[in-house]
Amino acid sequence: SNRSRSAAMREVTHRPVRITTRPDSNGVQQPTSVWFGMNTFGLRDMRAKLPKDVYKKLAASIRLGKKLDSDIAPVVAQVIKEWALSRGVTHFTHWFQPQTGLTAEKHDAFLNFDENKLPMETFTGEQLIQSEPDASSFPSGGLRATWEARGYTAWNPGSPVFISETGGVKYLCIPSVFIGYNGEALDEMTPLLRSSDVLSAATIKLLELMGDTGVLRVNTTLGVEQEFFLIDRAHFALRPDLVMANRSLVGAPPPRGQQLEDHYFGGIPERVQACISEVEHELYKLGVPIVTRHNEVAPSQFEMAPIFEDSDIAVDHNHLTMAVLRKVALRHGLQAIVHEKPFAGINGSGKHCNWSLAITSDNNLDGTNLLKPGKTPHQNLRFLIILAAVLKGVHKHAGLLRAGIATSGNEHRLGANEAPPAIISAFLGKGLTQVIEDIAGGKTSPANAEQAMLKLGVAKLPEVEQDNTDRNRTSPFAFTGAKFEFRAVGGSQSIAFPVMLLQAGVAEAVIELTEALAKEIKTAKSTDDAVLKVVRKAFKETTAVRFEGNNYSDEWVVEAKSRGLLNLRRTPEAMAELKTDSAKALFKGTGILTDVELESRYHVRLERYVKDILIELHTLQQMIDTQVLPASYAYLAQLAGTAGQGAAAGINMQPVVDAANATSKLVAAAQKKRAELAKVITKAEALHDDLDAQAVYLTSTGCDALAEVRETSDALELAIGDEFWPLPRYREMLFPV
Ligand code: ADP
Ligand code: MG
Repeated sequence: SNRSRSAAMREVTHRPVRITTRPDSNGVQQPTSVWFGMNTFGLRDMRAKLPKDVYKKLAASIRLGKKLDSDIAPVVAQVIKEWALSRGVTHFTHWFQPQTGLTAEKHDAFLNFDENKLPMETFTGEQLIQSEPDASSFPSGGLRATWEARGYTAWNPGSPVFISETGGVKYLCIPSVFIGYNGEALDEMTPLLRSSDVLSAATIKLLELMGDTGVLRVNTTLGVEQEFFLIDRAHFALRPDLVMANRSLVGAPPPRGQQLEDHYFGGIPERVQACISEVEHELYKLGVPIVTRHNEVAPSQFEMAPIFEDSDIAVDHNHLTMAVLRKVALRHGLQAIVHEKPFAGINGSGKHCNWSLAITSDNNLDGTNLLKPGKTPHQNLRFLIILAAVLKGVHKHAGLLRAGIATSGNEHRLGANEAPPAIISAFLGKGLTQVIEDIAGGKTSPANAEQAMLKLGVAKLPEVEQDNTDRNRTSPFAFTGAKFEFRAVGGSQSIAFPVMLLQAGVAEAVIELTEALAKEIKTAKSTDDAVLKVVRKAFKETTAVRFEGNNYSDEWVVEAKSRGLLNLRRTPEAMAELKTDSAKALFKGTGILTDVELESRYHVRLERYVKDILIELHTLQQMIDTQVLPASYAYLAQLAGTAGQGAAAGINMQPVVDAANATSKLVAAAQKKRAELAKVITKAEALHDDLDAQAVYLTSTGCDALAEVRETSDALELAIGDEFWPLPRYREMLFPV
């Protein structure tokens, strides 16, 4: 077969398994708990090293999500520096999340010189809490013009500093936010933190009104299931589309995909197992609590999931998970791909975001999960009103949630067979649906909320739900026991944005429900009765967003339309939801984003979409010109030569001529589509002054052109001789031998 392909095949089949070992002492590998978080400097380390009063202040700011007191910064910096130097660290960096979907870092050495020009290591309080990278080259969506590209990063003390180890070099990372000089959010983390703060304050007010006092903070909790593919590096390197666009733009479907249903939860291949274990080791050092791993549905697809954490830390940890996965996979000769749809015809990769709210307090409420039914009628009313707030937020801002997961990659996944559709609805399960419908339908009189709770059996729900085996895997937003699972989120995206949108919508609903409750309390017999009344109204209002059926069915599309639910299939129309009046009112009202900040998010995301599709168009054009067509010509030349030689020897070479003619037809079709593709690129690029028009053109004509060219290429892949085909086939990439 083709020379590079067979060389890759040889490499793949001869790759040894790289065995990984955990840190050991005296030759014995240590249990994970002994060294978990060894590369982080968290609260426990701080307590051991800091003066008591400094530690107290720091701990308070971490626990309550507050900014660090600047007068304790020098002392904190000092102990962090000592720890870092003792670990062989030479540099530090503020580690932040610009709107690129990735993280950013710029390293500075601890090395400094004293007044006698003698070398020494320094690290000031100022350097710990603030830094000024040159912000001019990060996307800002017009938020700050490049000539006034001033921005700074500031430590988020809630997220522990950590040591990155790469290529034998160690440097200290300080998880940070990235803001403009007037406080504008230039990054993904700032709005997320703001939404957590707003939701916390609003929920505390609601709880106080209900008589649950002494709550210091309501944290949002997040557990992120990460799906990904692992394919061999040698194959990856031969695919310009995977290298450039993280997804295959051509590739004929193999006879076997995932139809045997034999990969899901199957035995993890040894090379992959070794790789994933090493990924886990590296993540454990960084304090990322990965606890599950398994084969996913598609061939060569896998999943890892951590124990949930506070949402900002979970976001940091998901970035680390993706980065470590990519890095460590290479050591094993593997390429990790988190793109939403790297291979057509088989499942893509998502990122299920499990989300809930938990109380921090000095009393017995500490640790309460607000999305978990409790034991007493009062606790269950509390659960129901928070549930009502989530439903209200999702109902009113379904369009925003859709916008939050709108990327070029996820466009291929949403609505495809394995992924939830572009319609946002909520699944609640049989037991809970019954409770909601009984309340909404007035089956229980709000005259005595306590009795109603007992009668409805809310307290028994967790047991009911556990038995409820028909958990709906098709829902984009499902209640799964004591948390909601936002499943429509894409595998490669930063989850800060979709989680922020969810939190903003829920915060607004909590504020509205609190106002309604304050009114009801004035006339109700008891607070609990008033709560039930408010909950009943909210359940009634949000009926349309609850759906228990099969989200993949055609009937749902029709039904959702009649319910007035949005079905935004393409990215630009989904993105437009960021510009509606209700979106503007939400962000202004909650103070999470200013109009300008919101507008910039729209702009950055749409621009990214346009760039993604343009990169795909150019990549495909180059692959057709330099690989697909030349391979086809070579094959035709061989047929022609064979026919000529055979004819000279007096053999009937008509069959060969027929085969050549058939292939020649396919080549002509490919050339034609390729020419149309070039025109599409020219036209799209000519629209560069009008981003909206460009996006609309690319999402329709642009994506059609990609699909049509692919069709002709895939036909050629199946027509020409195997030794001529230059690109690793789906079979070779997905079914390693
Ligand atoms: P599944 O059945 O979906 O696999 P799991 O119980 O395995 O559910 O949990 C999936 C993810 O949800 C894990 O990361 C887990 O830590 C997380 N999770 C569990 N409880 C909560 C919660 N209260 N808040 C946020 N995430 C949670
Ligand atoms: Mg799950």
